[in-house]
Parts: sequence; structure tokens; C-alpha cells
Amino acid sequence: MQILRGLYQVGGDLNGITFDKEGAKWNDGNSYVLETPSGLLMFDCGCGDTMTQIVSNMSYWGLSMDHVKFCLLTHSHFDHAGGAHLLKKKGIKLLSSREAASGIAVGDERCCGYLYHKTFVPTEIDEMVHDGQVLNLLGVEMQVIHLPGHSMGCTAYSFLHDQKRVIVSGDVIGTLLGGDFGWDGSIDFDKKCYIESLKKFAKETMDIMLPGHGLCQFHNPRYRVEESLNAALMQWR
Ligand SMILES: [Zn+2]
Repeated sequence: MQILRGLYQVGGDLNGITFDKEGAKWNDGNSYVLETPSGLLMFDCGCGDTMTQIVSNMSYWGLSMDHVKFCLLTHSHFDHAGGAHLLKKKGIKLLSSREAASGIAVGDERCCGYLYHKTFVPTEIDEMVHDGQVLNLLGVEMQVIHLPGHSMGCTAYSFLHDQKRVIVSGDVIGTLLGGDFGWDGSIDFDKKCYIESLKKFAKETMDIMLPGHGLCQFHNPRYRVEESLNAALMQWR
């Protein structure tokens, strides 16, 4: 599904871009592809079992997995990073925060494979990124925003594309219906950190938010962040 010129959602079962199994809604997080003249950047890669669907979705838009140079992972959860080992085999460079990398390297409960009754295949991250870092990936200036809480490795990626500020937010914000925060059951969930992250995220300027599940937000995504912050402040006292 095309989001902007050169920017696509290529996976995500909640809004039917991929399909893991009957009844599943949260098995496959959203994955996105950004086209540049020097190749493709990918954000998250789904659970792994939908990789052929992702490849096929990409191919519809004339995008080849062979041209993906980097995959930026928002966190270590199975539905977002379960397919990382498959990308690694193809020579795609994996990036994530240090905290996410440490879970992905061993595939332990921080990756939540058990939630889906599946096994997380561990893999090594090629480059660890940190808060405030500005990466240059295929000519795209990419800002790294560490937003721990839903998991300690949660990281958002902010970039300018087609004159719009886009932020790939992972599971920091749930955007199924109203603004809401992400799942609070992870073994490394931290309420205090999460509230601080929501406060920090609410200060970010953006035109479009690409969340880890559900629908992209094209209009005033900050409103959704503020709603989540409000809900967290009220529920997590
Ligand atoms: Zn998650």
C-alpha cells in the first residue's frame, strides 16, 4: 500500500496487508519500505512467516527485496523483528537500539515468541543506534529517538520525505481507534520510562506517523500521542 510517493506499507496483519493465520490481528507488525535512488530502506520486517507476502506486496509496487540495503527495527518483539534473521541471510544490514539488539541476539522472552507460540530465531544486529543520533542512510537523514517503556529498546525513526516529516513509531503508540499506548505485558515493560517517553514523543513535530500496528496517521498525529499520554497519566498513577 502506497503511503506517499516512494513510501509503502508492505506488511501488517491488523489492516490486512499481510495474513499470518486465522483470527490473528497482532501477529505481524507493520513493515514499511522507503525508496531512494540508491536502494531501499525497510522499517521492521514482521514475524518472518509472512516474508513471502511482504516480498510479493513489494513486487506489486516494483520493489525488490534484493534492493533493500538496511532494515531499521523499532524493537525486539516477534511481530516486528521475527523475520530479521531472514533479511540477515540476504545480506541486509540490521539496525536497532542496543537494548533491542541484546534481545534479538539471543531471542529470549524480551522477543515474546511465546505470545505467538512460536520461536524467535536470534540474529546479530549490524549497527546499534542511540538516542539523538542522526544517521545518513542512502542519502536519507534519519533521526533516532529512543522511547523506552513498551519495551526498553523501543526506538522511533524520523525523516523528511516529500516535504513531510515522517516518524516510524513502532509500538509506542497504538493507533487502532483512539490514541492509546502499546501493550503493557512485555517482560521489560516499564511504566515510568513509558510516561517519560510519551512526554518526549509529544514534543516531536511530525506530519505523518507510521505506527507498529493498524493505520497510519496523516493528520495531526501529535494529537494521538497526547491522547496516549493523557491515558497513561490517568491510568498509571
Ligand atoms: Zn511490541
